Amino acid sequence: MIVIIGLGTGGLYAARWIAMHNRNEKVKIIEKRSYETYSPCSIPLVVEGEIGEEDIIHPFPKSKNVEILLKHEVVEIDTKNKIVEAKDLDSGEIKEVNYDKLIYSAGAEPWIPPIEGRDKKGVFTVRTVEDATRIKEWAKSAKKALVVGAGAIGVEMAYALRKRGLDVTLVELLQWPFPTVLDKDIAKYVDEKLKEEGIKTRYGVKVEKILGDERVRAAIIGGEEVEFDMVVMSTGVRPSSKLLQGKVELDDRGFIMVDERMRTSDENIYAIGDCVRTPYGVIQLATTALNQAIVAAINSTGGDATLRKPNGAFVSAFGDYEVASVGERGEISGRGWSRLNPYSDEKIVMKIYADKDGTLRGAQAVGKGASSRIDIVSALIRRGSKVWDLAFMEKSYCPAVCELYDVIKIAAENAMRRMKIEKYEI
Ligand SMILES: Cc1cc2nc3c(=O)[nH]c(=O)nc-3n(C[C@H](O)[C@H](O)[C@H](O)COP(=O)(O)OP(=O)(O)OC[C@H]3O[C@@H](n4cnc5c(N)ncnc54)[C@H](O)[C@@H]3O)c2cc1C
Repeated sequence: MIVIIGLGTGGLYAARWIAMHNRNEKVKIIEKRSYETYSPCSIPLVVEGEIGEEDIIHPFPKSKNVEILLKHEVVEIDTKNKIVEAKDLDSGEIKEVNYDKLIYSAGAEPWIPPIEGRDKKGVFTVRTVEDATRIKEWAKSAKKALVVGAGAIGVEMAYALRKRGLDVTLVELLQWPFPTVLDKDIAKYVDEKLKEEGIKTRYGVKVEKILGDERVRAAIIGGEEVEFDMVVMSTGVRPSSKLLQGKVELDDRGFIMVDERMRTSDENIYAIGDCVRTPYGVIQLATTALNQAIVAAINSTGGDATLRKPNGAFVSAFGDYEVASVGERGEISGRGWSRLNPYSDEKIVMKIYADKDGTLRGAQAVGKGASSRIDIVSALIRRGSKVWDLAFMEKSYCPAVCELYDVIKIAAENAMRRMKIEKYEI
Protein backbone atom coordinates (compact mmCIF):
# COMPACT_ATOMS: atom_id res chain seq x y z
CA MET A 1 0.00 0.00 0.00
CA ILE A 2 1.31 3.42 -0.99
CA VAL A 3 -0.07 6.18 1.20
CA ILE A 4 0.08 9.75 -0.10
CA ILE A 5 -0.33 12.67 2.30
CA GLY A 6 -1.79 15.70 0.51
CA LEU A 7 -3.76 15.87 -2.73
CA GLY A 8 -2.08 19.01 -4.02
CA THR A 9 0.02 19.19 -7.16
CA GLY A 10 2.58 16.65 -5.93
CA GLY A 11 0.10 14.16 -4.47
CA LEU A 12 -2.15 14.37 -7.52
CA TYR A 13 0.57 13.57 -10.04
CA ALA A 14 2.21 10.85 -7.92
CA ALA A 15 -1.18 9.11 -7.62
CA ARG A 16 -1.96 9.68 -11.30
CA TRP A 17 1.33 8.09 -12.36
CA ILE A 18 0.77 5.02 -10.18
CA ALA A 19 -2.85 4.72 -11.34
CA MET A 20 -1.73 4.77 -14.99
CA HIS A 21 1.42 2.66 -14.77
CA ASN A 22 1.03 0.30 -11.78
CA ARG A 23 -2.59 -0.75 -11.80
CA ASN A 24 -2.06 -3.49 -9.23
CA GLU A 25 -0.61 -1.15 -6.64
CA LYS A 26 -3.06 0.11 -4.02
CA VAL A 27 -2.88 3.84 -3.28
CA LYS A 28 -4.59 5.75 -0.49
CA ILE A 29 -4.52 9.56 -0.54
CA ILE A 30 -5.27 11.46 2.66
CA GLU A 31 -6.29 15.10 2.21
CA LYS A 32 -7.65 17.54 4.78
CA ARG A 33 -9.59 19.66 2.27
CA SER A 34 -13.19 18.87 1.43
CA TYR A 35 -12.66 18.85 -2.35
CA GLU A 36 -10.39 16.83 -4.61
CA THR A 37 -7.90 18.61 -6.84
CA TYR A 38 -7.66 22.33 -7.44
CA SER A 39 -5.29 24.68 -9.19
CA PRO A 40 -3.67 27.14 -6.76
CA CYS A 41 -2.00 28.81 -9.75
CA SER A 42 -5.46 29.91 -10.99
CA ILE A 43 -6.49 31.72 -7.79
CA PRO A 44 -5.57 35.18 -9.14
CA LEU A 45 -7.90 34.53 -12.12
CA VAL A 46 -10.72 33.70 -9.69
CA VAL A 47 -10.10 36.90 -7.74
CA GLU A 48 -10.03 38.86 -10.99
CA GLY A 49 -13.42 37.34 -11.88
CA GLU A 50 -12.23 35.74 -15.15
CA ILE A 51 -13.35 32.34 -13.88
CA GLY A 52 -15.27 31.02 -10.86
CA GLU A 53 -14.14 28.85 -7.95
CA GLU A 54 -15.95 25.89 -9.53
CA ASP A 55 -13.70 26.18 -12.60
CA ILE A 56 -10.52 25.46 -10.64
CA ILE A 57 -11.81 22.44 -8.69
CA HIS A 58 -11.68 19.11 -10.49
CA PRO A 59 -12.40 15.53 -9.47
CA PHE A 60 -9.50 13.07 -9.37
CA PRO A 61 -9.80 10.84 -12.47
CA LYS A 62 -11.73 7.65 -11.49
CA SER A 63 -9.33 4.83 -10.80
CA LYS A 64 -9.84 1.35 -9.36
CA ASN A 65 -6.63 1.29 -7.34
CA VAL A 66 -6.78 4.80 -5.84
CA GLU A 67 -8.83 5.60 -2.75
CA ILE A 68 -9.17 9.18 -1.53
CA LEU A 69 -9.94 10.13 2.07
CA LEU A 70 -11.08 13.76 1.97
CA LYS A 71 -11.61 15.88 5.11
CA HIS A 72 -9.03 13.75 6.90
CA GLU A 73 -6.03 15.43 8.45
CA VAL A 74 -2.91 13.43 9.17
CA VAL A 75 -2.01 14.14 12.79
CA GLU A 76 0.75 11.59 13.45
CA ILE A 77 3.16 9.38 11.54
CA ASP A 78 4.50 6.32 13.34
CA THR A 79 7.54 5.63 11.19
CA LYS A 80 8.63 2.56 13.22
CA ASN A 81 5.38 0.66 12.67
CA LYS A 82 4.61 2.40 9.34
CA ILE A 83 1.24 3.74 10.41
CA VAL A 84 -0.36 7.10 9.59
CA GLU A 85 -3.00 8.48 11.95
CA ALA A 86 -5.66 10.52 10.18
CA LYS A 87 -8.35 12.53 11.94
CA ASP A 88 -11.79 12.52 10.35
CA LEU A 89 -12.55 16.24 10.40
CA ASP A 90 -16.33 15.59 10.58
CA SER A 91 -16.48 13.03 13.37
CA GLY A 92 -13.16 13.62 15.12
CA GLU A 93 -12.41 9.89 14.88
CA ILE A 94 -8.75 8.93 14.48
CA LYS A 95 -8.17 6.28 11.82
CA GLU A 96 -5.00 4.25 11.43
CA VAL A 97 -3.70 3.60 7.93
CA ASN A 98 -0.80 1.21 7.31
CA TYR A 99 1.70 1.91 4.59
CA ASP A 100 4.49 0.08 2.83
CA LYS A 101 5.77 3.30 1.31
CA LEU A 102 4.70 6.83 2.15
CA ILE A 103 4.76 9.79 -0.25
CA TYR A 104 4.68 12.98 1.77
CA SER A 105 3.33 15.92 -0.18
CA ALA A 106 1.89 18.34 2.37
CA GLY A 107 3.09 21.48 0.54
CA ALA A 108 3.74 24.76 2.29
CA GLU A 109 1.91 27.44 4.24
CA PRO A 110 1.95 31.17 3.60
CA TRP A 111 4.37 33.07 5.77
CA ILE A 112 3.89 36.67 6.92
CA PRO A 113 6.81 38.61 8.40
CA PRO A 114 6.21 39.79 11.97
CA ILE A 115 4.55 43.09 11.01
CA GLU A 116 2.49 44.66 13.79
CA GLY A 117 -1.22 44.50 12.87
CA ARG A 118 -0.91 41.53 10.51
CA ASP A 119 -3.78 39.74 12.29
CA LYS A 120 -6.37 42.46 11.57
CA LYS A 121 -9.51 41.74 9.56
CA GLY A 122 -8.85 42.53 5.93
CA VAL A 123 -5.32 41.06 5.85
CA PHE A 124 -5.15 38.03 3.56
CA THR A 125 -2.76 35.36 2.36
CA VAL A 126 -3.23 33.41 -0.87
CA ARG A 127 -3.12 29.62 -1.08
CA THR A 128 -6.54 27.94 -1.13
CA VAL A 129 -9.87 28.29 -2.93
CA GLU A 130 -11.32 29.59 0.35
CA ASP A 131 -8.70 32.37 0.33
CA ALA A 132 -9.84 33.36 -3.17
CA THR A 133 -13.47 33.55 -2.05
CA ARG A 134 -12.60 35.55 1.09
CA ILE A 135 -10.50 38.05 -0.89
CA LYS A 136 -13.18 38.43 -3.58
CA GLU A 137 -15.91 39.03 -1.02
CA TRP A 138 -13.88 41.59 0.92
CA ALA A 139 -12.84 43.35 -2.31
CA LYS A 140 -16.51 43.95 -3.18
CA SER A 141 -16.71 46.71 -0.57
CA ALA A 142 -13.04 47.77 -0.58
CA LYS A 143 -11.54 50.71 -2.44
CA LYS A 144 -7.82 50.69 -1.71
CA ALA A 145 -5.65 47.57 -1.59
CA LEU A 146 -2.08 47.10 -0.51
CA VAL A 147 -0.27 44.07 -1.95
CA VAL A 148 2.97 43.18 -0.20
CA GLY A 149 5.60 41.32 -2.23
CA ALA A 150 6.19 41.72 -5.97
CA GLY A 151 6.91 38.10 -6.85
CA ALA A 152 4.53 36.14 -9.11
CA ILE A 153 1.65 35.84 -6.64
CA GLY A 154 1.87 39.47 -5.52
CA VAL A 155 1.96 40.85 -9.05
CA GLU A 156 -0.88 38.58 -10.24
CA MET A 157 -3.01 39.50 -7.21
CA ALA A 158 -2.30 43.24 -7.66
CA TYR A 159 -3.47 42.98 -11.26
CA ALA A 160 -6.56 40.96 -10.27
CA LEU A 161 -7.62 43.54 -7.68
CA ARG A 162 -6.93 46.40 -10.09
CA LYS A 163 -9.17 44.69 -12.67
CA ARG A 164 -11.88 44.63 -10.02
CA GLY A 165 -11.60 48.41 -9.90
CA LEU A 166 -9.58 48.88 -6.72
CA ASP A 167 -6.86 51.44 -6.26
CA VAL A 168 -3.86 49.12 -5.82
CA THR A 169 -0.39 49.73 -4.40
CA LEU A 170 2.25 47.03 -4.78
CA VAL A 171 5.15 47.22 -2.32
CA GLU A 172 8.39 45.25 -2.59
CA LEU A 173 11.23 45.24 -0.07
CA LEU A 174 13.83 44.61 -2.79
CA GLN A 175 14.61 47.04 -5.59
CA TRP A 176 12.40 45.82 -8.46
CA PRO A 177 9.56 43.40 -9.32
CA PHE A 178 10.32 39.67 -9.65
CA PRO A 179 13.64 40.36 -7.91
CA THR A 180 14.67 36.71 -7.64
CA VAL A 181 14.28 35.88 -11.33
CA LEU A 182 14.75 39.13 -13.28
CA ASP A 183 17.64 41.55 -13.63
CA LYS A 184 16.96 45.23 -13.10
CA ASP A 185 17.20 46.09 -16.82
CA ILE A 186 14.49 43.55 -17.69
CA ALA A 187 12.33 44.22 -14.61
CA LYS A 188 12.00 47.87 -15.62
CA TYR A 189 9.71 46.81 -18.50
CA VAL A 190 7.50 44.95 -16.04
CA ASP A 191 7.28 48.00 -13.82
CA GLU A 192 6.31 50.16 -16.81
CA LYS A 193 3.56 47.69 -17.71
CA LEU A 194 2.27 47.55 -14.11
CA LYS A 195 2.04 51.35 -14.07
CA GLU A 196 0.31 51.32 -17.46
CA GLU A 197 -2.31 49.06 -15.84
CA GLY A 198 -2.83 51.68 -13.12
CA ILE A 199 -0.97 49.84 -10.35
CA LYS A 200 1.12 52.03 -8.04
CA THR A 201 4.49 50.45 -7.34
CA ARG A 202 7.01 51.07 -4.59
CA TYR A 203 10.33 49.25 -4.30
CA GLY A 204 13.04 49.15 -1.65
CA VAL A 205 10.59 50.03 1.13
CA LYS A 206 9.18 48.12 4.04
CA VAL A 207 5.63 47.81 5.28
CA GLU A 208 6.29 48.59 8.92
CA LYS A 209 2.86 48.45 10.52
CA ILE A 210 -0.75 47.74 9.68
CA LEU A 211 -3.14 50.14 11.39
CA GLY A 212 -6.81 50.00 12.33
CA ASP A 213 -9.00 48.83 15.19
CA GLU A 214 -10.38 45.42 14.27
CA ARG A 215 -10.18 46.06 10.53
CA VAL A 216 -7.38 47.39 8.37
CA ARG A 217 -7.52 51.19 7.99
CA ALA A 218 -3.99 52.08 6.86
CA ALA A 219 -0.38 50.94 6.72
CA ILE A 220 2.92 52.59 7.50
CA ILE A 221 5.19 52.21 4.49
CA GLY A 222 8.71 53.61 4.68
CA GLY A 223 7.65 55.86 7.56
CA GLU A 224 4.58 57.23 5.78
CA GLU A 225 0.96 56.44 6.70
CA VAL A 226 -1.19 55.44 3.71
CA GLU A 227 -4.88 54.50 3.88
CA PHE A 228 -5.98 51.03 2.77
CA ASP A 229 -8.99 48.88 3.47
CA MET A 230 -7.42 45.57 2.53
CA VAL A 231 -3.94 44.01 2.49
CA VAL A 232 -2.79 40.95 0.54
CA MET A 233 0.42 39.39 1.80
CA SER A 234 2.52 37.46 -0.69
CA THR A 235 5.67 37.35 1.31
CA GLY A 236 6.62 33.71 0.88
CA VAL A 237 5.82 30.29 2.27
CA ARG A 238 7.19 27.88 4.88
CA PRO A 239 7.34 24.11 4.37
CA SER A 240 4.59 22.03 6.04
CA SER A 241 6.97 19.49 7.51
CA LYS A 242 5.98 19.43 11.20
CA LEU A 243 4.67 15.86 11.01
CA LEU A 244 8.12 14.63 10.04
CA GLN A 245 10.09 16.67 12.57
CA GLY A 246 12.45 14.40 14.50
CA LYS A 247 11.58 11.50 12.18
CA VAL A 248 13.50 12.33 9.03
CA GLU A 249 16.30 14.77 8.29
CA LEU A 250 15.17 18.40 7.87
CA ASP A 251 17.34 21.41 7.07
CA ASP A 252 17.55 24.43 9.39
CA ARG A 253 14.54 26.06 7.67
CA GLY A 254 12.37 22.96 8.06
CA PHE A 255 12.64 21.67 4.48
CA ILE A 256 12.65 17.88 4.21
CA MET A 257 15.99 16.71 2.82
CA VAL A 258 15.59 14.26 -0.06
CA ASP A 259 18.03 12.65 -2.48
CA GLU A 260 17.67 12.66 -6.26
CA ARG A 261 15.30 9.69 -5.92
CA MET A 262 13.05 11.88 -3.68
CA ARG A 263 13.84 9.59 -0.74
CA THR A 264 14.06 11.05 2.76
CA SER A 265 16.45 9.73 5.41
CA ASP A 266 13.77 7.07 6.12
CA GLU A 267 13.92 4.55 3.28
CA ASN A 268 10.14 4.06 3.34
CA ILE A 269 9.27 7.75 3.06
CA TYR A 270 9.47 9.85 -0.09
CA ALA A 271 8.78 13.58 -0.01
CA ILE A 272 7.96 15.94 -2.88
CA GLY A 273 6.84 19.46 -3.73
CA ASP A 274 7.00 22.70 -1.79
CA CYS A 275 8.18 21.06 1.44
CA VAL A 276 11.44 19.55 0.16
CA ARG A 277 15.05 20.42 -0.45
CA THR A 278 16.60 18.25 -3.15
CA PRO A 279 20.38 18.04 -3.76
CA TYR A 280 19.77 20.88 -6.25
CA GLY A 281 18.10 23.19 -3.71
CA VAL A 282 14.55 24.43 -3.13
CA ILE A 283 12.27 25.32 -6.03
CA GLN A 284 8.61 25.86 -5.16
CA LEU A 285 6.80 25.55 -8.46
CA ALA A 286 4.02 23.31 -9.74
CA THR A 287 6.33 22.22 -12.57
CA THR A 288 9.01 20.94 -10.20
CA ALA A 289 6.41 19.28 -7.94
CA LEU A 290 5.13 17.41 -11.01
CA ASN A 291 8.53 15.96 -11.98
CA GLN A 292 9.36 15.11 -8.37
CA ALA A 293 5.99 13.34 -8.05
CA ILE A 294 6.75 11.11 -11.01
CA VAL A 295 10.18 10.24 -9.59
CA ALA A 296 8.65 9.33 -6.20
CA ALA A 297 5.83 7.36 -7.84
CA ILE A 298 8.27 5.27 -9.87
CA ASN A 299 10.69 4.60 -7.01
CA SER A 300 8.03 3.86 -4.38
CA THR A 301 6.58 1.18 -6.64
CA GLY A 302 9.90 -0.59 -7.18
CA GLY A 303 11.07 1.24 -10.30
CA ASP A 304 14.19 3.27 -10.90
CA ALA A 305 14.03 7.01 -11.46
CA THR A 306 16.27 9.93 -10.60
CA LEU A 307 15.60 13.64 -10.76
CA ARG A 308 17.89 15.65 -13.01
CA LYS A 309 18.93 19.18 -12.11
CA PRO A 310 15.90 21.39 -12.71
CA ASN A 311 16.47 24.74 -14.37
CA GLY A 312 13.50 26.47 -12.74
CA ALA A 313 11.62 27.39 -15.94
CA PHE A 314 9.11 29.94 -14.74
CA VAL A 315 6.32 32.11 -16.09
CA SER A 316 3.90 34.52 -14.49
CA ALA A 317 1.31 36.57 -16.33
CA PHE A 318 -0.93 39.55 -15.75
CA GLY A 319 -3.44 39.99 -18.53
CA ASP A 320 -1.58 38.77 -21.60
CA TYR A 321 1.75 40.16 -20.43
CA GLU A 322 4.16 37.34 -19.58
CA VAL A 323 7.20 37.40 -17.30
CA ALA A 324 9.38 34.34 -17.79
CA SER A 325 12.82 33.09 -16.87
CA VAL A 326 14.94 29.98 -16.78
CA GLY A 327 18.31 28.85 -15.48
CA GLU A 328 21.06 30.99 -14.04
CA ARG A 329 23.20 33.97 -14.87
CA GLY A 330 26.36 33.25 -16.90
CA GLU A 331 29.60 35.03 -17.81
CA ILE A 332 28.20 36.63 -20.95
CA SER A 333 24.81 38.05 -21.76
CA GLY A 334 23.01 39.41 -24.79
CA ARG A 335 19.79 41.38 -24.85
CA GLY A 336 17.40 42.17 -27.64
CA TRP A 337 13.82 42.89 -28.51
CA SER A 338 11.42 42.31 -31.34
CA ARG A 339 7.80 43.08 -32.00
CA LEU A 340 5.23 40.41 -31.37
CA ASN A 341 4.69 40.37 -35.15
CA PRO A 342 5.62 42.90 -37.86
CA TYR A 343 2.34 44.80 -37.42
CA SER A 344 2.12 44.83 -33.65
CA ASP A 345 3.05 47.57 -31.19
CA GLU A 346 3.69 44.95 -28.53
CA LYS A 347 7.29 44.14 -27.77
CA ILE A 348 9.07 41.07 -26.36
CA VAL A 349 12.35 41.76 -24.61
CA MET A 350 14.78 38.94 -23.94
CA LYS A 351 18.15 38.48 -22.27
CA ILE A 352 20.22 35.36 -22.74
CA TYR A 353 23.08 34.21 -20.54
CA ALA A 354 25.91 31.91 -21.62
CA ASP A 355 29.39 30.94 -20.51
CA LYS A 356 32.44 32.12 -22.46
CA ASP A 357 32.53 28.82 -24.37
CA GLY A 358 28.97 29.48 -25.54
CA THR A 359 27.18 27.05 -23.19
CA LEU A 360 23.68 28.33 -22.54
CA ARG A 361 23.05 29.15 -18.88
CA GLY A 362 19.76 30.98 -18.65
CA ALA A 363 17.36 33.54 -20.03
CA GLN A 364 14.78 36.12 -19.04
CA ALA A 365 11.95 37.37 -21.23
CA VAL A 366 9.00 39.72 -20.84
CA GLY A 367 6.01 40.46 -23.02
CA LYS A 368 3.36 38.40 -24.75
CA GLY A 369 4.96 35.18 -26.05
CA ALA A 370 7.82 35.29 -23.51
CA SER A 371 7.11 31.85 -22.09
CA SER A 372 7.31 30.01 -25.41
CA ARG A 373 10.80 31.48 -25.97
CA ILE A 374 11.88 30.56 -22.43
CA ASP A 375 10.70 26.97 -22.96
CA ILE A 376 12.99 26.66 -25.99
CA VAL A 377 15.96 27.82 -23.91
CA SER A 378 14.90 25.47 -21.10
CA ALA A 379 14.97 22.43 -23.39
CA LEU A 380 18.32 23.46 -24.87
CA ILE A 381 19.95 24.07 -21.46
CA ARG A 382 19.05 20.48 -20.52
CA ARG A 383 20.91 19.25 -23.59
CA GLY A 384 23.99 21.37 -22.82
CA SER A 385 23.45 23.38 -26.02
CA LYS A 386 25.33 26.49 -27.09
CA VAL A 387 24.10 30.01 -27.64
CA TRP A 388 24.53 29.62 -31.44
CA ASP A 389 22.03 26.76 -31.34
CA LEU A 390 19.53 29.47 -30.43
CA ALA A 391 20.82 32.15 -32.79
CA PHE A 392 20.64 29.83 -35.79
CA MET A 393 17.73 27.64 -34.75
CA GLU A 394 15.09 26.98 -37.38
CA LYS A 395 12.31 28.89 -35.75
CA SER A 396 8.93 28.69 -37.41
CA TYR A 397 7.71 31.99 -38.83
CA CYS A 398 4.55 33.56 -40.17
CA PRO A 399 3.85 37.32 -39.87
CA ALA A 400 0.54 36.69 -38.12
CA VAL A 401 2.48 34.97 -35.35
CA CYS A 402 5.96 36.46 -34.97
CA GLU A 403 8.84 38.33 -36.58
CA LEU A 404 11.26 36.48 -38.87
CA TYR A 405 14.23 37.89 -36.96
CA ASP A 406 12.72 36.83 -33.66
CA VAL A 407 13.81 38.21 -30.29
CA ILE A 408 15.35 34.85 -29.39
CA LYS A 409 17.74 35.08 -32.36
CA ILE A 410 18.53 38.72 -31.73
CA ALA A 411 19.35 38.22 -28.04
CA ALA A 412 21.45 35.12 -28.79
CA GLU A 413 23.30 36.94 -31.58
CA ASN A 414 24.03 39.83 -29.21
CA ALA A 415 25.50 37.39 -26.68
CA MET A 416 27.66 35.88 -29.44
CA ARG A 417 29.12 39.30 -30.25
CA ARG A 418 30.97 39.01 -26.94
CA MET A 419 32.65 35.74 -28.01
CA LYS A 420 35.38 34.95 -30.49
CA ILE A 421 33.98 32.57 -33.07
CA GLU A 422 36.34 31.17 -35.73
CA LYS A 423 33.87 29.26 -37.86
CA TYR A 424 30.12 29.49 -38.17
CA GLU A 425 27.93 26.45 -38.76
CA ILE A 426 24.52 27.78 -39.60
C1 LIG B 1 -1.67 31.71 -5.79
C2 LIG B 1 -0.62 30.76 -6.28
C3 LIG B 1 -0.22 30.82 -7.61
C4 LIG B 1 0.74 29.95 -8.09
N1 LIG B 1 1.08 30.02 -9.40
C5 LIG B 1 1.97 29.14 -9.91
C6 LIG B 1 2.26 29.11 -11.31
O1 LIG B 1 1.69 29.88 -12.09
N2 LIG B 1 3.17 28.21 -11.77
C7 LIG B 1 3.79 27.32 -10.93
O2 LIG B 1 4.60 26.52 -11.42
N3 LIG B 1 3.53 27.30 -9.60
C8 LIG B 1 2.64 28.18 -9.08
N4 LIG B 1 2.33 28.15 -7.73
C9 LIG B 1 3.07 27.20 -6.86
C10 LIG B 1 2.44 25.82 -6.92
O3 LIG B 1 1.06 25.90 -6.74
C11 LIG B 1 3.08 24.96 -5.85
O4 LIG B 1 4.47 24.95 -6.03
C12 LIG B 1 2.56 23.52 -5.90
O5 LIG B 1 1.17 23.49 -5.75
C13 LIG B 1 3.22 22.68 -4.81
O6 LIG B 1 2.62 21.41 -4.77
P1 LIG B 1 2.59 20.58 -3.39
O7 LIG B 1 1.94 19.29 -3.71
O8 LIG B 1 3.92 20.59 -2.78
O9 LIG B 1 1.67 21.45 -2.41
P2 LIG B 1 0.12 21.79 -2.49
O10 LIG B 1 -0.33 21.84 -3.90
O11 LIG B 1 -0.09 22.98 -1.64
O12 LIG B 1 -0.58 20.54 -1.78
C14 LIG B 1 -0.40 20.21 -0.43
C15 LIG B 1 -1.66 19.52 0.04
O13 LIG B 1 -1.43 18.89 1.28
C16 LIG B 1 -2.58 19.01 2.10
N5 LIG B 1 -2.17 18.80 3.48
C17 LIG B 1 -1.26 19.52 4.18
N6 LIG B 1 -1.12 19.00 5.43
C18 LIG B 1 -1.95 17.94 5.50
C19 LIG B 1 -2.26 17.01 6.52
N7 LIG B 1 -1.67 17.06 7.72
N8 LIG B 1 -3.18 16.06 6.28
C20 LIG B 1 -3.79 15.98 5.07
N9 LIG B 1 -3.55 16.83 4.06
C21 LIG B 1 -2.62 17.80 4.27
C22 LIG B 1 -3.04 20.43 1.79
O14 LIG B 1 -4.40 20.61 2.12
C23 LIG B 1 -2.79 20.52 0.30
O15 LIG B 1 -3.91 20.15 -0.47
C24 LIG B 1 1.34 29.00 -7.22
C25 LIG B 1 0.95 28.93 -5.88
C26 LIG B 1 -0.04 29.78 -5.41
C27 LIG B 1 -0.46 29.69 -3.98
